Parts: sequence; C-alpha cells; structure tokens
Amino acid sequence: MKNAEFKIGRAWIEVNRNNLYHNVEILKKAMQPGCELMAVVKAQAYGHGAVLTASHLNKMGVRAFAVATVDEGIALRKSGICGEILILGYTEAGRASELKEYDLMQTLISFEYAEVLNNQGIAVKVHMKIDTGMHRLGIASGELAAVRKVFSMENLKVCGMFTHLCCSDSRHPEDIAFTKGQIDKFYRMTGALGDSGIILPKLHIQSSYGLLNYPDLACDYVRIGIALYGVLSSPDDDTLLKPDLRPVFSLKSRVVLIREVAAGESVGYGRSFMAGRDTRIAILPIGYGDGFPRNLSDGKGSVLINQYVVPVAGRICMDQLAVDITDTEGISVGDIATLAGAEGYDDELSVPAVADHSGSISNELLCRMGVRLPVIAR
Ligand SMILES: *Cc1c(COP(=O)(O)O)cnc(C)c1O
Repeated sequence: MKNAEFKIGRAWIEVNRNNLYHNVEILKKAMQPGCELMAVVKAQAYGHGAVLTASHLNKMGVRAFAVATVDEGIALRKSGICGEILILGYTEAGRASELKEYDLMQTLISFEYAEVLNNQGIAVKVHMKIDTGMHRLGIASGELAAVRKVFSMENLKVCGMFTHLCCSDSRHPEDIAFTKGQIDKFYRMTGALGDSGIILPKLHIQSSYGLLNYPDLACDYVRIGIALYGVLSSPDDDTLLKPDLRPVFSLKSRVVLIREVAAGESVGYGRSFMAGRDTRIAILPIGYGDGFPRNLSDGKGSVLINQYVVPVAGRICMDQLAVDITDTEGISVGDIATLAGAEGYDDELSVPAVADHSGSISNELLCRMGVRLPVIAR
C-alpha cells in the first residue's frame, strides 16, 4: 500500500460539492419566484459538516440558514458564515446577549417563552412559530391575541412567522387533507393579523417534502434540509415533484487487515458469524461509534469494495466491522470500501436504502455519522 493512501485515514465522509451545487440550483428552480432557500444545516448539516457545507452554500449564494441550537449558530458565525441564521429550537433566555452578539434569530416556541425572552431586556430578532397541528413547538394558531401581544413586545423584533407540516411527506388523501388544513390555519392567522393592521414579517411553511409535495405555496422561505443533501428520507417515498436530486454524501473506509478463518471458526462478538467453509474476512476500522448502525450486523448490511458488494460478517463493533470477501478476487489491504452513498449502486447502497435496512430514515443515519468522522470535500 502506498504511503499517501494511508494519510486519508481509516474512515471518512466524502461530500460531493458539485452535487450540492446542483441540488441548490434544482431546488431553487422548484420554488416559487420570490421565495428564498433557507438551508437547514443543523446536526452538522445532516452529517456533511456544518461549517464546510454552509461555507460552500454561502459561495453558491445561499444567504439564509437554519440550525437547531444557539451553539450551532455561534459556530457558523465564528467561521464567517454570512446571512441570516435562524435557530429552530429552544435557547435558554439567559443567552439573549449571545443571540444579539452573533446576530442569530431565535424561534419563539411559546407565548410564555416570548415573555421571558423579552424580559431579558436585550433586543433580539425572532421568528414566531405557529402550531397548526404538529403540537410540538409554537403558539397555537387560534391564539390571535397572544400573537398580537408578541408583536408589541419591545425587545423582540419579529422578522418571521412560520409553521411546520407534520405529514407533508405522505400522498395519502387524509394526510393531504390534514396538511391543507395546517396551511389554511396558518394563513387564516396571518390574514387576520394583516387585517388588524400588523405588517406581516417573512412567512414560511415548507421543509423538503413541503416543497416537493406542495410546490404551489408561495412563501418567503423554504426550509430545506434532507433534499439539499440529495436524498429522500426513505427509499419508497413518492413525491409530486421529482427533481433530479443527486446524493452529496458517501461513507468510506479502508481495508486494514485480511485474514483467513477456517470452516467451523467464528468471527466477532457472540460468535454470531460461524464460518460454514474456509472464509476470507476483511476488517474495516469503522463501527457504530462512527454512526454505522449496529442493526446492520450479520449480513443485514453490505459494503462495496472494488465492484464487489460484500456482506457484513458477524456483529458490528463500536470501532470495527468484518466483511466476508470469500467470493471476491483481488481485494487487498488498503482498498477503499464504500458503506453508504455508493454512486452507481443506488438501490442497495444509497443512503435511504442503508437507513431503511437499519430500521431508520436517511436523516437519522446521516446525522449520527457526522459525530466522529472527518469530512472531506471533493
Ligand atoms: C429539520 C427541520 C426542517 C428541515 O426538514 P427536512 O425535512 O430535512 O427538509 C425544516 N423545518 C424545521 C422546523 C425543522 O426542524
């Protein structure tokens, strides 16, 4: 093995910048005129690296971002990200001075929260979240008086109002009816506000599936996460719009050891892999500590090495896994393995398929893999 190859490391995430750029362009085209793309880069940009992704997006002209926490927002500012940054989740009101210092916009998760934040005596920019049926965060859409009061709070500058759709990924008629009801509640509230003389701030409703299934909505922003990264949440999801999204993420590791295991011997914890024949095993130094799901043990998961799709042998460990390469030729130490996001092997090794095999969705798989692994852009 060449020395240079060793330097790339034991396991890493590769971000395909061209595909990210392509997705931005194609999603912008799918949006209504006048609507701006708000890139959702929470949880390390779904494992793609928040700073790396946001700085590329900045270069591509994206000027609005959403994160989950104040610390995620501060990290983006400290690395020079420009434009608006909206915090979608809860921030302790005691951190209002940081919201101001780093020019972050805070979501108001309830009327009570708005009062507490206002009482800090620090001028902060906010977006008011309206609950139209998800019943997670937000002021209930019927609470017009409370919403009006927030507009009169002296330290809160209301820059936006938004709601979140809870079943916009579904094409079932009853889910479509529910979603339309959510949209209707939101606009009834904003309409009533407008009628009472309040100048409406920026309005937004859709996330990725909101755009793909309800593309006619003309909002000020679309908050796009998963689609920006070029995948859907699940392999069988159907959407009204089917833009040519291209996967940005791939997960790679390297064969560091090949060993022969005699028939009758076992591999790994619990001896769950029993060699029924003389077997060749390749060891990859990546495990569930890197976010590769343990659920893919015992052949439920596969990896791609030199055009061969080979099964996981035995249980996935925290930092290592074994694959059975008995039926292959020419695989050697140093060869690269692709564990997810293998282009050209879309069905089996795409992120949605790997997530599905592990009993989850792309969103969870991606953000779990963003914790320990380094990210390389290419
Ligand atoms: C995470 C999140 C999004 C992005 O959702 P995707 O389905 O990944 O596009 C949008 N809005 C809110 C409120 C979120 O929490």
